Amino acid sequence: MKFETKCIHGSGKRYDDTGAVSVPIFQTATFLHKGVGQSTGYDYSRLQNPTRESLEDTVAQLENGSAALAFATGMAAIATLMELFEPGSHIVASDDLYGGTHRLFEHVSNKNGIDVTLVDSTDIACLEAAIRPDTKAVYLETPSNPMMHVTDLRAVAQITRERGLLCIVDNTFLTPLYQRPLDLGADVVIHSGTKFLGGHNDTLAGLLVVRDTTLAERLRFLHKTTGACLAPFDSWLILRGIKTLGVRMARQQETAMQIAGYLKAHPAVDAVYYPGLKEHPGYDISCVQTTGFGSMLSFTVRDGAAARQVLERISLIGFAESLGGVETLMTYPMLQTHADIPEARRLAKGIDDRLLRLSVGLEASEDLIEDLDHALGGHE
Ligand SMILES: *Cc1c(COP(=O)(O)O)cnc(C)c1O
Repeated sequence: MKFETKCIHGSGKRYDDTGAVSVPIFQTATFLHKGVGQSTGYDYSRLQNPTRESLEDTVAQLENGSAALAFATGMAAIATLMELFEPGSHIVASDDLYGGTHRLFEHVSNKNGIDVTLVDSTDIACLEAAIRPDTKAVYLETPSNPMMHVTDLRAVAQITRERGLLCIVDNTFLTPLYQRPLDLGADVVIHSGTKFLGGHNDTLAGLLVVRDTTLAERLRFLHKTTGACLAPFDSWLILRGIKTLGVRMARQQETAMQIAGYLKAHPAVDAVYYPGLKEHPGYDISCVQTTGFGSMLSFTVRDGAAARQVLERISLIGFAESLGGVETLMTYPMLQTHADIPEARRLAKGIDDRLLRLSVGLEASEDLIEDLDHALGGHE
C-alpha cells in the first residue's frame, strides 16, 4: 500500500461495530472487566486507549517501525526516551538542535548523570571522534533546526551499528512522507506531532517509533510508568491531521521552493538556508536519503533592526513559534525557540539577531510573497 493510502486508512482496525468511518474518540479513563482475569485488552487509558492505539499503529506503519508510542508533547517523548539511559551514560548529539531538546539535555539530563557532547553532525569524522567508551547513543536532527544542516543518516547509522549504539533521529521536519530514518538504519524516530503530523497548529503531541521489539517493550514500560501519554481527543486530532499529510506537505514544499527562490533574489536578504536549493551544502545528501525537502527554511537579513522590522511588518504570516501547520509562521529563533541556548554557542551556530525562520503553510504562494515583499521592502 502506498504512503498516502496508509495515511488515510491507518491500521485499518475497527474498534466498534457501528461502521463509523472515523476512529471513535474513546474518552474514558478506565475500562470495565467482565470478570476476574477477563480484560478486554484495555485496562486504563494510561496503559492502552483505542484512539491512541490507532494513532500509534498508523505512525508505526508510516515510519516502517514495529511500534510507536504517543506522548502529550514532543518534549514528553524525548524526556521519556532519555529514561533509557543510566547515570554515567554519554550521548553524542547534533549541535544544531531544537532549543527545547538542548534545554532538556543541559538542565535535566545532565543533572541525571547523562553527559551530552554536541558536535557538528554533518562532519562524520568529527561525530565519530566524539564517541567514548561510555557513549550509548547518537542523537540527530536532520534537517536541523533552525540552520537546516543535513546529516548523512546512513553514514551515522553504520557507525552506531558497528559500535552498538542507539541511533536516534528527530524526524519532525520531514516526516515519514519525505524521510524514513528507520529504513536508513536508525533505531529510534522522534516526532513532535504538534508540527506536520497534526498540521493545523491546534494541538500538541509527541511520538517515538522503533523497529526493535525489545526496545519497544522498554519504551512502553517507561511510557506507562512516567505517564505523559497522549489524550484520546488529541490522538484523534493527530490521526485526522495525518490523513491529509501527503497533500499538505507536497503543496507546502512547492510554495517553500518558490519562496526560497524569491528570498534568494531579494536585495534585503543575505542568505537563504533551504535544503532544496542546489547550492545548499546538504542538497546532494538530501537527494539520496530523502524524497523531499520539506517546507522549513531560514534566512538572514542585514541586521537586527531589519529582522525586527520584518517581524513587525508581516501581517498574513504570523509571528509565532512552532511550525508545520497550515498557517505560515515566522519565528525569531534568537528570542523564541533558541533563547535558552548559551549566547556564545548560539552565535557560533549562526543563530543571531539577523536570522529568521519560516514555516511555509498552505496559503496561496502569491499572498505569502506579497506579505514578505511588504515586510522586506522600504528599509533601504
Ligand atoms: C517542536 C519540536 C520539538 C518539541 O515538540 P513539542 O511538541 O513542542 O513538545 C522537538 N523537536 C523538534 C524538531 C521540534 O520542532
